[in-house]
Amino acid sequence: MSYDPTNIFARILRGEIPCKKVFEDDHVLAFHDINPQTPTHILVIPKGAYVSFDDFSTKASAEEIAAFVRATGQIAREAGLAAPGYRVLSNIGRDGHQEVPHLHFHIFGGRPLGRMVPNGD
Ligand code: 5GP
Repeated sequence: MSYDPTNIFARILRGEIPCKKVFEDDHVLAFHDINPQTPTHILVIPKGAYVSFDDFSTKASAEEIAAFVRATGQIAREAGLAAPGYRVLSNIGRDGHQEVPHLHFHIFGGRPLGRMVPNGD
């Protein structure tokens, strides 16, 4: 799947639409999900044009991967989630139910999160 530069997160990265930013560095942007599923629901995205985790894990540089992983941990820590715990999730492709075709990690927290995977609907 080729990268679609009109996807909503590409537009957020270009500043064409606003977001509630929680973190930014050279490689990473993080912001609150517009439709939070938990008290804390943050999206972490790389600035590079990667469709999904599959694309990113294949093509991203070691520097980009390290920045993305470290930022995700730092953002969760700074949101107060390290002690109570939280969940990092990335949906990939059709079966993963990915809606936005730009890699994102969801950080969920702020309440007990229940079972890891729902029965599916
Ligand atoms: P996916 O299903 O692709 O893993 O998740 C996409 C997520 O992006 C959803 O949780 C959805 O609420 C969020 N989202 C979609 N459009 C926007 C937007 O314009 N701004 C923000 N902040 N989040 C969005």
